[in-house]
Amino acid sequence: MKLRQKPIVIVGAGFAGMTFALTLKKLNPSLPILVVDSKTNFIFKPLMYEVLSKEIRSWEATPKFANIFSDASITFLKNCLTKIDFKENILEFSDDLKLGYQYLVICTGSVPNSFSIKGVDENCYFFNDFHDLNKLNSFLKKSQETAFNRKLFIIGGGPSGIELACKIKDIFKEQFEINLIEKSNEILNKNKIFNREQAEKALEKRQINILLNSTVKEVSETKIIISSEVGITSLDKDIVIYTAGVKPNLSYLETDQITKKFGRILVNNNFQIENYKNCFAIGDISVVEGMEDLPITAQVAMQEGNHLANNLELSIQGKDTLPFEFKDNGEMISLGIGEASISGLGVTFSGKLAFEARRLIYASKLPDITESLKSASSWIFQKKSFLKKFLKKDNSN
Ligand SMILES: Cc1cc2nc3c(=O)[nH]c(=O)nc-3n(C[C@H](O)[C@H](O)[C@H](O)COP(=O)(O)OP(=O)(O)OC[C@H]3O[C@@H](n4cnc5c(N)ncnc54)[C@H](O)[C@@H]3O)c2cc1C
Repeated sequence: MKLRQKPIVIVGAGFAGMTFALTLKKLNPSLPILVVDSKTNFIFKPLMYEVLSKEIRSWEATPKFANIFSDASITFLKNCLTKIDFKENILEFSDDLKLGYQYLVICTGSVPNSFSIKGVDENCYFFNDFHDLNKLNSFLKKSQETAFNRKLFIIGGGPSGIELACKIKDIFKEQFEINLIEKSNEILNKNKIFNREQAEKALEKRQINILLNSTVKEVSETKIIISSEVGITSLDKDIVIYTAGVKPNLSYLETDQITKKFGRILVNNNFQIENYKNCFAIGDISVVEGMEDLPITAQVAMQEGNHLANNLELSIQGKDTLPFEFKDNGEMISLGIGEASISGLGVTFSGKLAFEARRLIYASKLPDITESLKSASSWIFQKKSFLKKFLKKDNSN
């Protein structure tokens, strides 16, 4: 009697997990693949600012996993991973379900990291998932009914801080006085120079205050305490949004269960976890040995998912795998309603054209979902089908 093959289990269906699952299924449709995620919907995080500003509708950035995976003939299970027994190849979930696996791919993304700054967890808003977005949105909306010039602070001068500051200013105008706090001496210090310059102009145009070389020491119910060259300052606040860091979401791992670097799972160039050759970690939760400087982005997560799928198929066929190489396709940031900045592959441009290009590029990256959803009068899916036709035409030349 032939025993049923254990599945390839993917835990976390974000950018890394979804790309991996869809690519592998295309390469080898007969493989048993099971995708598990604790949520019902995929979240296209780079489009969360446009959902906040209502430039796109919320469902456009959050297609249902059930639709995406049933279209691809992949089994999807909604459940939350709580434990891994790497030696026995068994996963445990929050409802006590136990599952065996042939191969395991973990890609559970990031959660905000408050670096133990006093009061941040209790008194700040975050912008990492749809729960955060809805909570922030309802506070901002409620504020519209009250006084003008309410004091809004954003901690972190990275892409999230800048993109949020510009969108909120464009939506709520004089409702908020926006202050952006950055601990280094410039905003977007890990980003492309062109995008940094465009962001500086966008912030200046919107009269958003930038507090550089400033470190947040504490956030209380009513105050924010900042340390800078002028000493310690305590300022009144109405709302503080924290965007200054993330950490890997690894709540299901036991202390010292596997080797980590910078708090993330250390993997080799094949994304394998040390000592467990059939287990892989990709996306925000892992760091590739020798490639520690890779940014924590969707672009990296998708390339890792794609590469691992190709490698796993090669190794199933008994062929040699290929080492991962990151291809920098550039970066895009939104800078308020209808504006963006793009820098990559030798091209730099900003403004309305960049905004349209950014949406078009993201539309092409959204996972394929059912025809019924695509046919709804949605900007993003109309553009996606247009783009597909265009690419087909282009390829046939
Ligand atoms: C507001 C915002 C804007 C961003 N903009 C950009 C951008 O413009 N460009 C860019 O390249 N990157 C951007 N990023 C970063 C990018 O979104 C992440 O790097 C990317 O999502 C990482 O992909 P991932 O697959 O590792 O994790 P995620 O996409 O976060 O997916 C993780 C998945 O794991 C699931 N999960 C977590 N824990 C469990 C568990 N225990 N059991 C089961 N499932 C679990 C989650 O529900 C989730 O679906 C942005 C991030 C944010 C927050």
